[in-house]
Amino acid sequence: MNKILYTLLSVFIFISCETDSTKKVITTERIPNSFAIVIHGGAGGIKRKYFNEEQQNAYAQKLEEALNAGYTVLENGGVSLDAIQVAINVMEDSPLFNAGKGAVYNSEGNQEMDAAIMDGKTLNSGAIAGVNHIKNPILAARMVMDSSKHVMLSGKGAEIMAKSYGIEMVDSSYFFTKKRLNQLRKIQGKEEIQLDHTAFLMKHELIDDHKFGTVGAVAIDKNGNIAAGTSTGGMTNKKYGRIGDVPIIGAGTYANNLTCGISATGTGEYFMRTVAAHEVSSLIQYKGLTAEEALHEVLFNQIGPLGGEGGMILIDKNGDVSWDFNSTGMFRGYKKSDGDTKIEMFEKPE
Ligand code: ASP
Repeated sequence: MNKILYTLLSVFIFISCETDSTKKVITTERIPNSFAIVIHGGAGGIKRKYFNEEQQNAYAQKLEEALNAGYTVLENGGVSLDAIQVAINVMEDSPLFNAGKGAVYNSEGNQEMDAAIMDGKTLNSGAIAGVNHIKNPILAARMVMDSSKHVMLSGKGAEIMAKSYGIEMVDSSYFFTKKRLNQLRKIQGKEEIQLDHTAFLMKHELIDDHKFGTVGAVAIDKNGNIAAGTSTGGMTNKKYGRIGDVPIIGAGTYANNLTCGISATGTGEYFMRTVAAHEVSSLIQYKGLTAEEALHEVLFNQIGPLGGEGGMILIDKNGDVSWDFNSTGMFRGYKKSDGDTKIEMFEKPE
């Protein structure tokens, strides 16, 4: 009998050691009725020293406004899809970010915007690409998800449908910003595309010209449903007709209640080639990685070596928030129902 007990104990100890040394075991569970939202306003060569106090405050305030808008929806029992939508609307309406009002210019001197939204409960998704008359592209992505049998509509077709559903349309002049045009003029004619925030790394670039970025949000509501959304003007000097990672479900945007929700920002082509957001989700689901490990693997071992840069925000099925980036900085913030909240913009804290 003693011998049997001893053998069982040895096996147990062996399994415990094996588990501890090979991977982290996720033991936490979602606190009932808890909720959270995380947002980003783009990644790139963002360093604190490039921003004066006034500029830092302007960003912090807008991020806070977006977070609070989404948080209020969740607090009042609203669904995560609505929460991310209102948070993204706030950033789309601000010229500070590369989405909606602040969208960057393509090589022809026009804006073409992409957006996507995904429901982690049903895996329903909607996306639009290459539009330039829809004031809030994330609303049109939601319309595609809710009101069509499709996942992605592009260009004129997307605009016609958005209009027929009463989504606010604007003249393309609404998206004009002198700063954005200056960014384009500096690289137009070159075979170069530029991450919005990286604009300031260019010589002689004025600080005011590079305070913009793709926007995204991920939320989990009181029922534990996760949603993710992203909206962008793409990359400065991109080719006419170029579509980035943002509206590609699984590349720049992904949500699945089994794992997590993710919104990405960065050099889109690399996020498409690595199917980045879905890859993070799969690493969590099938390889048992923690969210932090999965983000690190994709950003630093897959996207980085290919030459890509950017970041991702994430909420997992337990309501835990994570983010990571391999660029210098990323505008980012979160707010959780346990009172934990943070807004960061620049280099990772030491
Ligand atoms: N990922 C976006 C794109 O490639 C750009 C960005 O995140 O700033 O279109």
